[in-house]
Order: sequence, then C-alpha cells, then structure tokens
Amino acid sequence: METIPYDKRSGKIWINSELVDWKNAKVHVLNHGLHYASCVFEGERVYDGEIFKLEEHTSRLFYSAKRMGIKIPYTEKEINAACKEIIVIQKVKNGYVRPIVWRGSEMMAISAQKNKIHVAIASWEWGSYFDPKLKLEGIKLNISSWRRPSPNSVPWDTKAAGLYMICTLSKHEAESKGFSDSLMLDHNGNIAEATGANIFFKDKNGTLHTPIPDSFLDGITRRCVIGIAKSKGIKVVERKITTEEMTNFKGCFLTGTAAEITPVSEIDKFKFNVCELIKDLSKSYQNIVRKKAAA
Ligand code: PMP
Repeated sequence: METIPYDKRSGKIWINSELVDWKNAKVHVLNHGLHYASCVFEGERVYDGEIFKLEEHTSRLFYSAKRMGIKIPYTEKEINAACKEIIVIQKVKNGYVRPIVWRGSEMMAISAQKNKIHVAIASWEWGSYFDPKLKLEGIKLNISSWRRPSPNSVPWDTKAAGLYMICTLSKHEAESKGFSDSLMLDHNGNIAEATGANIFFKDKNGTLHTPIPDSFLDGITRRCVIGIAKSKGIKVVERKITTEEMTNFKGCFLTGTAAEITPVSEIDKFKFNVCELIKDLSKSYQNIVRKKAAA
C-alpha cells in the first residue's frame, strides 16, 4: 500500500500556538534547524485516545532542548495540553505524536544566539513500526559499521536531530542487505542499541541483560519494561555487554515507543528464540499501554 507523503496529508498541525492547515505547515529553507541540526523532538504513541507517558516525553523534550542551549518558550504544562489538543483535533485514537522544536532563521551561521525557537506538534493514526508478521517471528539485525559517538562528543542522552544522522545511515545499510534494523555498538565496541530502540537479551536462566545507557538514549519504554520484568520477579542486569556474549544469549528483543517490544531472531551470525518470556512481557506491555489489568 502506498502511503501518502507526510507533507500531503490533511488536518491541522499545532505550530507556535496556532492550528495551521497541514499542507501549509511549512518552514523557510534558511532555518538553523535544517542547516545545523538545531532541533530536538519527541516520539509518542496514542493508545485508545490517550498519549502513553505524555509527561515523561514532554520532560525529555525540555531536557533535550536545555542540553542544546534551546529555551522552549512554553511550559511543560502548555506542551502537554497542546499534545492532547492536537490528538483530539486530528481524531487520533491509535497513532503517533511528534513534537518538534527548532531554531529559526534570524542568524544563518554556526552561532544562533538570537534565533527564534519554534515548536510544532503533529499527530496521525499509525500502526506497527516493523512489519507486523516479522514483529511476531522476530526481526533480523546486522551489526552497523557506524558506532554511537563517545559521550564527550555529543549530547548523547537527548533526542536531538543530529544524533539520527548515523541511525539513518545504519538503517539504510541494513535494509539494503535485507535486514530490518541495525545493532549499533558504542565507541568502545560494546553493544549499545538499535537505530531507534533499546536492546535486551535473555540468558539461559531467564535473566535479562541490557546495556547501561551511558552513551545513548535511556528509553522511556526501556525503563517501563525493566519495571514490568522486575514486577514479575525477572532479574534484570544493566551492564556492559560485548558482541561475543551473544553466543550464549537465548532471546533478544528491542524496546521503544515505536518498536514497543519487538523480538529479534538474528543479529549477524547469532540466533535467538522468540520465547514465552518475551511474548509474556510484550502482552503485559500492551496491557499497560491500554490501561488493562496486567496479565
Ligand atoms: N534509542 C533511540 C536512538 C531512539 O530513537 C529511541 C526512540 N525514541 C529509543 C532508543 C527508545 O526510546 P523510547 O523508549 O523513549 O521511545
């Protein structure tokens, strides 16, 4: 099925407090966000008409902006209200919300001290990030030839647009070789994350292992899944994980707002089972996002 390009859809987009017709939600080509990645954003999911963990996403948006030296001209409360408003206007029941903040056009060089800060929030109906069939069977990942940058070279704990340059490069490389996604290593060669999701492994004893987020995003889903696992009595170890260790792991899955819980069947030469523990965690996650009693 052909999807309608994102600039050709209908409805409204919230921009700087105004509801703008979707097709007119444009920026000038000379803006600092586009040229110098002066831009931070969020990705949120709507389940049954409610934004899951909205307040946490908005807090992270403000944190990302602060780390980039960007002062958002709204309060967190105002952004929460605007996110809620746009999903009602767009009639989104199960979909996605994309708040985005960028520096405007007042200065067009490296320095952008005087640039106006713009905020937009768009929302649309949306389904699965990965092919739904693969999401059940487990997706295949390659190991990216790109690494996450060292933490002293970028604001690594943010959702800043510039950090996604290597993610798109990695994802394109993976897709061109028939993989769904790519495993990225950190600057020291330890396992970091996928291009838009965190990663967990299950060992032969049913313990979960996940890398310490010390050079990449500590996902809101990651934290939620750690909570679910612990509430079920599953041991979760956050530590450095080497690629060689994948030989001994039995299961693997990704976590993220878009990915939710997505089982992984292969990474490079390493194979994993989509085991009951992963299916059960995924079911519990779905119950929580839809506010049903946890199974
Ligand atoms: N890492 C990256 C690079 C991401 O883009 C995302 C998605 N936001 C995640 C991890 C997972 O974060 P979250 O669970 O907060 O969506």
